[in-house]
Amino acid sequence: MKSLTRKLMSVIIAASFCFGLASCSGKTTSVSSAASETTTAAETKASESSSAAESKAEVKTVTAGKLIMATNATFPPYEFHEGDKIVGIDAEIAKAIADKLGLELVIEDVAFDSIIAGVQAGKYDIGCAGMTVTEDRLKSVNFSTSYATGIQSIIVKEGSEIKTIDDLIKGKYKVGVQSGTTGDIYMSDAENGGVGEDRIDRYNNGNDAVVALMSGKVDAVCIDNEPAKSYVAANKSLVILDTPFTEEKYAIAVNKDNEALLNAINKALEELTADGTIAKIIEKYIPSK
Ligand code: GLN
Repeated sequence: MKSLTRKLMSVIIAASFCFGLASCSGKTTSVSSAASETTTAAETKASESSSAAESKAEVKTVTAGKLIMATNATFPPYEFHEGDKIVGIDAEIAKAIADKLGLELVIEDVAFDSIIAGVQAGKYDIGCAGMTVTEDRLKSVNFSTSYATGIQSIIVKEGSEIKTIDDLIKGKYKVGVQSGTTGDIYMSDAENGGVGEDRIDRYNNGNDAVVALMSGKVDAVCIDNEPAKSYVAANKSLVILDTPFTEEKYAIAVNKDNEALLNAINKALEELTADGTIAKIIEKYIPSK
């Protein structure tokens, strides 16, 4: 187990590198020198002086008066459809931030692997999608302070001969992933503990990957632990394997040129953490008992 954990640690480093290449290739990136100077730290601290409410005057968004959030709403309990609404931890946290900044929250449901590029291109103000902070994503966008954590999980059908992650890796099994996620990155890197490119089937969202598992197109799905739990709770024929993947930090992606928005979001997160709002939202969707 120790060596596997070590292996997976190196996957995270190598995999983050792959993500950067994959997400940036073919896209025009214009980053001003002022912006790039601000992005060396993984989590940029909010400016010390003002409150979120005070800092809102300086904040410019893509459309005045609105905060446009890109997400992929097949990631329960962080974002999912309830009737014609998108709800979940991220939707509620983003709404609380928007309220503090006097902005109307607009949620756009897009493919996960287009979120960073869209934030970078100035199409969306924020990417809020249970998104893991990686060094390579930090080359394209800034991240807020982290508000939650996740761990990669493997889902298989009940009775599957895959009982452990070693079974999965050593066999000839196919793994379904959400395109461009950290699960995709880990699993596609055969050199570092994944199953390798040839055994990966990529889907636009977690739901499609799980449907592929149910219909036998893939033998397993690699996805973050909370959505994995939700999918398994909704489908009795699925089970989750224990995995030694290390913890990932979720944060909100912001365009590198919009430092005022990043600072205001960090301030808002600080206030929402201090007054217990974030904990309350998380508890609502992930009850501690
Ligand atoms: N946390 C994973 C990532 O950032 C998956 C996020 C998601 O699928 N919404 O890649």
